[in-house]
Amino acid sequence: MVIVGAGHVGGRAALALREAGWAGLIALVGDEADAPYERPPLSKGVLLGEPFAATLRAPAAYADEGIDLITGTRVVSVDREAREVVLGDGRSLPYRALLLATGGRARRLDIPGAQLPGVCTLRTLPEANTLAQRLAPGARCVVVGGGFIGLEVAASARGRGCDVVVLEAGPRLLGRGVPASIAARVLALHEARGVTIRLGVLPVAFERRGDALQVRLGDGSGFDADTVVVGIGIVPNSELAARAGLATGNGIVVDAGLRTADPLVFAAGDVALFPSPLSGRPLRLESWHNAEEQARIAARNMAGGSESVGAAPWFWSDQYEHQLQIAGDPTLGVQAVARAVAGDAQIDFHLDAAGRMVGIAGFGPGGALAKEFKLARTLFERGVTADAQRLADPEVKLKSLLARA
Ligand code: FAD
Repeated sequence: MVIVGAGHVGGRAALALREAGWAGLIALVGDEADAPYERPPLSKGVLLGEPFAATLRAPAAYADEGIDLITGTRVVSVDREAREVVLGDGRSLPYRALLLATGGRARRLDIPGAQLPGVCTLRTLPEANTLAQRLAPGARCVVVGGGFIGLEVAASARGRGCDVVVLEAGPRLLGRGVPASIAARVLALHEARGVTIRLGVLPVAFERRGDALQVRLGDGSGFDADTVVVGIGIVPNSELAARAGLATGNGIVVDAGLRTADPLVFAAGDVALFPSPLSGRPLRLESWHNAEEQARIAARNMAGGSESVGAAPWFWSDQYEHQLQIAGDPTLGVQAVARAVAGDAQIDFHLDAAGRMVGIAGFGPGGALAKEFKLARTLFERGVTADAQRLADPEVKLKSLLARA
């Protein structure tokens, strides 16, 4: 079994292959220097100066499992006819089944100055460590992009005492998949914490000004910065698959069992474009939960299983002491039912035309939200239907709705 990409999915899938009973050879090849790790702390704890503790397993654990972990090495091509992958160092590895777990790379801005020192992106541990060093108290930090990564960086930078500006091209924050009512609360939180947020603006150039940078906007105005963080999404690493003649679009096209059109080649995680169990439409998810789920499903199917992606998507984001959580796909709803949760949190239930829950979105102080959102998620995952009035009524306990179901 060969796995390309030793990130979250690659590492988890290698271990899951053993759990699934595969006793033969496993090679896990990744181009990063580090053993597989989880990325969520990179924009949170690491930037706040906390020690990093999200390595999946110590490198020795892979050896103990008989997994050949090859780090710092790129896979440059896949020869499907010969059933082998070619590594950057010239070696080739034969495979019986192949998993492409190549994730994505940070999207870059194609404007003058985008390569200047001090203009950063955030995807890897070395990038997080570099950024953490730059976020000194009083440093001016301009974040380009008001999505999850940008806002988490903004919150961490404020936590380090930086002056923070967030520039978002769209008309609101979190334009992809987060309901507007929750995005508005996120905006208010950041402003209350002293972040300057500008919507509907896009930088046209970065310029060096002495030791600092100047971020120039289309209207001629600009912001001075010591550090610029560009957080405008990722580009899925699907080129390897495309060059091997596999179908790609906004990711590598796979079926519900995470197989490409070649039954020996699988793709999972941030790079996989799979049919959404909720809408049937092609979907690519970028989340920790998806990485965990798909790694296990791909591994079991590589070992001869026939499992399908079924679990509803789930995502969280931590900003300050607040948490945002999304389950399912709120954008499929035609009606939103807001439920106030004690401690200044909120959960919105999104219902389709038949009154079925298709997504839930929650926001508030982490402690207040967590338990209630877990119950809401269980209601959703079990397909419980409840009328809007009861969902909205804080006097009606979610536990009781679950018990009735
Ligand atoms: P990756 O973890 O990106 O791994 C892919 C690996 O493949 C990389 O190491 C890459 O270098 C390697 N690779 C690519 N091409 C090749 C090649 N040709 N040869 C060899 N190696 C190759 N999700 C949440 O749910 N909640 C969060 O709070 C959250 N926070 C996040 C914060 C940050 C800063 C980031 C970057 C992500 C965050 N995520 C979060 C998302 C989550 O971490 C990703 O969805 C997850 O890492 C995806 O795992 P993956 O294995 O598919 O991709």
